[in-house]
Order: sequence, then structure tokens, then C-alpha cells
Amino acid sequence: MRIIAVIGAGTMGNGIAHVFALKGYEVRLIDIHREQLDRALATISRNLDRQVEKKLITAKEKEAALSRIQTATELTDGVRNADVVIEAATENLEVKLQLFRQLDQAAPASCLLATNTSSISITQIAAVTQRPDRVIGMHFMNPVPVMKLVEVIRGYATSETTTKTIMELSRQLDKVPVEVNDYPGFVANRILMPMINEAIYALYEGVAGVEEIDTVMKLGTAHPMGPLELADFIGLDVCLAILRVMHEGFGNPKYAPCPLLVNMVTAGHLGKKSGQGFYNYETLAKGLFVADRFRK
Ligand code: NAD
Repeated sequence: MRIIAVIGAGTMGNGIAHVFALKGYEVRLIDIHREQLDRALATISRNLDRQVEKKLITAKEKEAALSRIQTATELTDGVRNADVVIEAATENLEVKLQLFRQLDQAAPASCLLATNTSSISITQIAAVTQRPDRVIGMHFMNPVPVMKLVEVIRGYATSETTTKTIMELSRQLDKVPVEVNDYPGFVANRILMPMINEAIYALYEGVAGVEEIDTVMKLGTAHPMGPLELADFIGLDVCLAILRVMHEGFGNPKYAPCPLLVNMVTAGHLGKKSGQGFYNYETLAKGLFVADRFRK
């Protein structure tokens, strides 16, 4: 394993590129938007600087890591020689299916195709390729350079060899891989998203305000971040997409996304990445709760 192609240079793609480059892999970072690639490189550089400041790595290691990342806007250029592809594009079924059809054509036959999807069926993604045994979920957590877990999701047709290879690759990054089966939301989001959704319902129904809900969960249940702040951090569009997949996949109304979440995403309030979510990231004081306007 030497060359890793990462598809999508958003929140997760830049983190995945960062950890592979730091461990000595050649990284091809691909996005349809050139400005996303530029932004990702700037973010990676900033995050590496932070590691240098904390003396976790040297300035030389930072420069070496950056020099191992090449960017491309053309999928075929980026994946031609890849040993593993990790897809971290937008959480949308059609986007992923189309990407995996293209990847199956463009990547070498031996190349493993992994997806960082939070909730979409690995089995369904694998089924549009000619290599379903070599398609797998490799679910990194946000922020990737910090979080230890990788949920390794076996689709119905994923082979034992593919699973073992991806478990080992995760260990090479000093991560802790956990093998799980392919059902909507897998493990992490199946448990996390209903909690976030419930926090949004509590806000929507006027039980308490944004800060109050987060404080209760931080100080009362020892969560490092409140559920609403965490939702902003993950991206409200990503949260909504995951809840919809679980709602449809299980056919159970308990996963129905709160109307407030739907409204916020429709209004373009996507959390930290858009500058506004439950908190306002454009104002210095993190005290302006835009969601209060939508409260009943
Ligand atoms: P994001 O919106 O920050 O970034 C997605 C990127 O994909 C964008 O830069 C977009 O331009 C790019 N893209 C879209 N279509 C593309 C295509 N056809 N080819 C190449 N690039 C394309 O999203 P994100 O939060 O980084 O999420 C990416 C994936 O990771 C999703 O599947 C998501 O569910 C998963 N995930 C997200 C989190 C999180 O906390 N945000 C955590 C774990 C997993």
C-alpha cells in the first residue's frame, strides 16, 4: 500500500489526506471544486502547524507530509495508480453511486474502494461495481487527525481479505478499527443521531434554549461537547442526510428528522462550515442562537 486517493476535499477529506500523508503515504486528493482543494491544503497546513506547536511532529515532518499530497479535479488522473481509494464526497446516494461506477472503471482492478459514508449502505454502493468483494466502509470520525476510531463496515459481499487489509491499514495510521456489519447508521450514528435529533426536538418544543441543552448534556452526562454544538460541527446537512437514511432504512418513525433541522438545512444554515447553525460562528461571541428564531 503506497498510494491513497481521497475523493472529496471537505471536512473529512482533508483530515483523511492529512493522516495518510503524515504516515508516509502518497496522497491524491480529488474534488470537483478547485477552491475546495485549495481550502483543504490550507486547512491541512494549519492543522499540521498545530501539531508542530504541540511538538507532536517536527517542522520537517510537516513539510514532508504536505509534499506527499497532490490535488486533482479529474477523478481519472487521481485514481489511476491508487492502491486504495477512500471516498469522502457529499453524503448523497446518487453522488456516491455515480462515483463508484466511475471509480470502478478508473481505478486498477486490484484497488480497494472504501467509502467514508456515515450511513449509506455499503452493500448498495458495492452493487454498482464489478468488484463488490473489494468495496468496504472506512468510517473515520471528525476531526480525523484527533479521533482514534475507524468503524470498518463490511458490506454483504465484502471479502475477509479486504476487511483484514483495511483493519490493518487503519492500525498503520495509529487508529483503532472496529468491525461492524452493514445496517443503516452502522453503530456510531445509529446511537448518536437519535440523541442529536432529540436535542433538536427539545429546542423546537421550547423545553430549553441552545446553550441550556448543551450545558445539561456536558455537565450532567459528561459529554465533551453538547449535542447541538456537535451537530454544528458535523454539519446539519450531514445529520439530516443520516437521519433520512435511517428513517427510510428501518421504516421506523423514531428516526424522523425534527422539522427544525429540516428548516435550518433548507435555509442554508449548515453549522460551522456555513458560519451559522445552532451557534453563530461569524460573530465573535458564540452567543447568538439563530435557531431560537425557529422555535415554537
Ligand atoms: P463536505 O460537504 O464537507 O465535503 C464534501 C466534498 O465532496 C465537497 O468538497 C464537494 O465539493 C465534494 N464532492 C461532491 N461531489 C463530488 C464528486 N463527484 N467528486 C469529487 N468531490 C465531490 O462533507 P464531509 O462532512 O466532509 O462528509 C464527507 C463524507 O464523510 C460524507 O459521506 C459524510 O457522511 C462522511 N462523514 C462526515 C463526518 C462529519 O463529521 N462531517 C464524519 C464522518 C463521516
